[in-house]
Amino acid sequence: MTTENSSPLTARLPNGLSAVEQDIAHACKEARRDRSSVTLVAVSKTFDADAIVPVIEAGQRVFGENRVQEAKAKWPGLMSAYPGIALHLIGPLQSNKAKEAVALFDAIHSVDRPSICEALAREFDSQQRRPQLFVQLNTGEEPQKAGVAPSEADSFIASCREKYRLPISGLMCIPPVNDAPAPHFALTAKIAARNGLNNLSMGMSADFAIAIALGATHVRIGSAIFGKR
Ligand SMILES: *Cc1c(COP(=O)(O)O)cnc(C)c1O
Repeated sequence: MTTENSSPLTARLPNGLSAVEQDIAHACKEARRDRSSVTLVAVSKTFDADAIVPVIEAGQRVFGENRVQEAKAKWPGLMSAYPGIALHLIGPLQSNKAKEAVALFDAIHSVDRPSICEALAREFDSQQRRPQLFVQLNTGEEPQKAGVAPSEADSFIASCREKYRLPISGLMCIPPVNDAPAPHFALTAKIAARNGLNNLSMGMSADFAIAIALGATHVRIGSAIFGKR
């Protein structure tokens, strides 16, 4: 059979993206928010260029990766082929990768300790590039998880600003898998508000509608767009 529907390209069309777009629009409407107040970060980690290209061609321009090395291998080629792409680092950053991260990413969602601040401040100076920064909170205070404890958030944000001169634009959180996400999103929004931060990176495939209701400005969505990893 050689109908159009069975061509490899059609088989890879990103159905997930349009469904997610519809759901985001619906959540914005319910929350009486403008669609333009929410940035969809399409999380392409583990997917290769063949899976990513149809999503770019469908119009998506903001992508998230959780590993610097993987992003470096995948994205420079795609970025030169498709203008206007913004890349967000959503996974942990090691100080020794700060140079590469600042060179490649437009936003970093995982600022969570002084050594990272120091490395980022140095690279901001030497590269004259300033990716948007989010401080990651560990709202569930899970020992195995990255992020700043809620009780330390205010002082950490203050030290980013005062000691390291880093412009912090918002907060990011990843609720514990077995918890209801709403209290974690609400706590993140509260800490952001009292620190004068306007951006909230929260909400993944399973809970982005709740995150939008609670003020998310950046939703990080992988599997609902690309399929199972
Ligand atoms: C993988 C990942 C996501 C996307 O998760 P999905 O459930 O696939 O939408 C979002 N945020 C972070 C930090 C991730 O590592």
